[in-house]
Amino acid sequence: HKYVYDFAEGNKDLKDLLGGKGANLAEMTNLGLPVPPGFTITTEACKAYLASGEEPAGLADQIAAHLAALEQGMGRRLGDPDDPLLVSVRSGAKFSMPGMMETVLNVGLNDRSVVGLAAQASGNQRFAWDSYRRLIQMFGKTVCEVPGEEFEHALDEAKRARGTTNDLDLDADDLRGLVDTYKKIFSKHTGREFPQDPREQLDLAIRAVFESWNAERAVIYRRQERIPADLGTAVNVVAMVFGNLGPDSGTGVAFTRDPASGAQGIYGDYLANAQGEDVVAGIRNTVPLQELERIDKPAYDELLDYMARLERHYKDLCDIEFTIERGKLWMLQTRVGKRTAAAAFVIAGQLVDEGLIDLDEALHRVNGAQLAQLMFPRFQLDHGFEPVATGIGASPGAAVGKVVFTSARAVELAGQGEDVILVRRETNPDDLNGMISARGILTSRGGKTSHAAVVARGMGKTCVSGADELDIDIPRRRFTVAGQTVTEGDVVSIDGTTGKVYLGEVPATPSEVVQYFEGELDPASIDDALVKAVHRIMSHADATRRLAVRTNADTAADAARARRFGAEGIGLCRTEHMFLGDRRELVERLILARDAKEREESLAALLPLQRADFVEIFRAMDGQPVTVRLIDPPLHEFLPPLEQLAVDVAVAQERGEDVAKEEALLAAVRRMHEENPMLGLRGVRLGLVIPGLFAMQVRAITEAAVECVRQGVRSCPEIMVPLVGAVQELETVRSEAEKIIAEVVGGSDVEVLIGTMIEVPRAALTAGQIAEAAEFFSFGTNDLTQMGWGFSRDDVEGAFFWRYLELGIFGISPFESIDADGIGRLVRIAAEEGRAARPGLKLGVCGEHGGDPDSVHFFHAVGLDYVSCSPFRVPVARLEAGRAAV
Ligand code: ADP
Ligand code: MG
Ligand code: MG
Repeated sequence: HKYVYDFAEGNKDLKDLLGGKGANLAEMTNLGLPVPPGFTITTEACKAYLASGEEPAGLADQIAAHLAALEQGMGRRLGDPDDPLLVSVRSGAKFSMPGMMETVLNVGLNDRSVVGLAAQASGNQRFAWDSYRRLIQMFGKTVCEVPGEEFEHALDEAKRARGTTNDLDLDADDLRGLVDTYKKIFSKHTGREFPQDPREQLDLAIRAVFESWNAERAVIYRRQERIPADLGTAVNVVAMVFGNLGPDSGTGVAFTRDPASGAQGIYGDYLANAQGEDVVAGIRNTVPLQELERIDKPAYDELLDYMARLERHYKDLCDIEFTIERGKLWMLQTRVGKRTAAAAFVIAGQLVDEGLIDLDEALHRVNGAQLAQLMFPRFQLDHGFEPVATGIGASPGAAVGKVVFTSARAVELAGQGEDVILVRRETNPDDLNGMISARGILTSRGGKTSHAAVVARGMGKTCVSGADELDIDIPRRRFTVAGQTVTEGDVVSIDGTTGKVYLGEVPATPSEVVQYFEGELDPASIDDALVKAVHRIMSHADATRRLAVRTNADTAADAARARRFGAEGIGLCRTEHMFLGDRRELVERLILARDAKEREESLAALLPLQRADFVEIFRAMDGQPVTVRLIDPPLHEFLPPLEQLAVDVAVAQERGEDVAKEEALLAAVRRMHEENPMLGLRGVRLGLVIPGLFAMQVRAITEAAVECVRQGVRSCPEIMVPLVGAVQELETVRSEAEKIIAEVVGGSDVEVLIGTMIEVPRAALTAGQIAEAAEFFSFGTNDLTQMGWGFSRDDVEGAFFWRYLELGIFGISPFESIDADGIGRLVRIAAEEGRAARPGLKLGVCGEHGGDPDSVHFFHAVGLDYVSCSPFRVPVARLEAGRAAV
């Protein structure tokens, strides 16, 4: 079995096997770019190792063979005392997980080869000892779990002894001393000496990279990003090149376009005389990439040339890691770069303009989650607040919240429902939980490519990085800025677009994208790259999609907004709100009615009110279909809660008041109490038990439709019966409704459809029968999930879903994204058997899932006619329906 691939053997399409980093290193190698030679150990080797706890048979020999070839090509041997080959051992999974897993640089250095390295570097002792101390530090921390702070303390101590804060002021003797200290730290924690055998270093480092796949922070990150847990990581062994050889060396990162805005230009950070992580960690202040032109023009020009080539080759924004060793440029990594939601749309539009991709492909380059992010509010333009600091706009958005200084506190306060801003000097992977909980992230160090910036962008979370005016004191939980002290719990506002930081709560406004959807911004006449790109891509999605998109709306105002957002009808108009407010009293009378006459009176009083509601909604939808669901919740939901009523009655009795009415109400509430209301007297069951209730609603709907025709407005009502489990239920309701409809419609030009929700599993399984009595089905996937899984939606999510997610029983709550295998199967069966019984049966979905990107793709695949979702999700559903169709 082949477990090891030379860079020349791979290519960018082998990400499953070689990981993203390995596949792209291979691709660059084959494009003729200057990549240090090396090889990749496959994800299969990793999976085999993780499954059995030991390296699979043959792996060691294959590594030895590839290492020998590498040594021969380089003319150096790993760890040779006179002229050592050094390598890096780098993790690299299929999906990029920035900073999540481990990398060890300078493998092959030991007490003897460090001398040879210095000799080979023209006697540069400082460089050699710096490289050695880095190896012990990285190896100790990542391979042997030595606490990283101990090395950092020792480094700080060495700098203090020198009276400096800059690593570069440490000379060779200082660093040699530091190596001694590091070795002591190493042996104290591991009970052994730092390994001197280069091959042992290599093997242990490879093993550590394998194991880093299951590190806690990597597990959390994968869950957050919905990356499958079983992919494993590849390991790249790469000949070292050195950016820490002096001022004519350095290391940097670059983007081919601005990953925040999408604008074209030169974006990146460069750090002279540095190695590896120094740039990303925000340890020293980097310079903007443009400065490299001044520092080393030939290397700069060469880099720009490669960047242009990579972008044309990948047809997308690329990010790049490079190192310059004494004026010679080396490419160490590239990948299709992460970007903000805004940049994703803008870049997709640009690439279409540049002829690199077509509009179908542009649809693949964006997604509904990104669009949803762009609909978040932003700060008002003339809010009058003065910024107290300006950092780097690392991940856009407007975030307001209470300041916290530790990840744990962020989790705690967010758990209490507070909005928090996590403030750190710089973040590291241990801050991940806090970052997930926070509304925004604010750091005083690091650029657009710092850990905080990269991770926040990936999460779509607002981030300002490198606000160096902030003097942050983590132990005291406070920072000072502009002469003011901000302590934990104070409110700040951060603008991830401009990088500005404000004290207090800055008012926010709707985003441009929402204004565009509202029809307040005309994409043709304004100069806004984002709005233009969104318009163009949305238009293509609309032209491409097969699924129609409707909205869930109960009021004319919601309906009108949803139409502006592109809804093509109402898929769910709930009628229960029409029983609330002033009307509660009428409902109480209905419930307490002692005889048919009293009941009919209260229904008659409700009729005109409902009719008026429907007229308003039908007018707002102006001829588009409106699915009205007959009353669904148990009637006692419209009565006061039992305990409160009992207390009220007791108190009133005490005061000697007349409580006859309240006592009757209390008796009714007691009578109607259900142990399991969600499975009780609700939906169609109410219609069958309470005479006249559904009839009144059917009459109100039909009369409203007739009234609209009279007013010159078309309407297409669809009456939907909830909670049906058997065709007999539906037939009973239907025959009564048909009589009323026929009577009300008379000769006017009105058509009223009658259909049902499919939300009880039995309905899905007998859909062929039910379709005989239904002109349409609407999948109520919330209840279908609740009843299909037996999960009480109101109870389980908070109670134990975390454990289910942790155990990987599901990757996401089935209430959020449709469980395709189980609940989705019910949908599929019902769709197929329903259509077989009644060709042309209209099929839609009105559960929360109608606005969830993955679920929309599923509903497209199953062949539904439409999805329906809340007004704000309508653009997301339009986009995803378009994406599902290309
Ligand atoms: P990550 O996936 O976290 O970015 P990398 O494997 O890319 O980790 O390595 C971390 C840093 O080490 C990068 O900045 C990279 O440039 C540097 N590095 C990795 N391999 C080498 C090498 N062979 N020579 C010089 N620098 C290297
Ligand atoms: Mg990297
Ligand atoms: Mg329901």
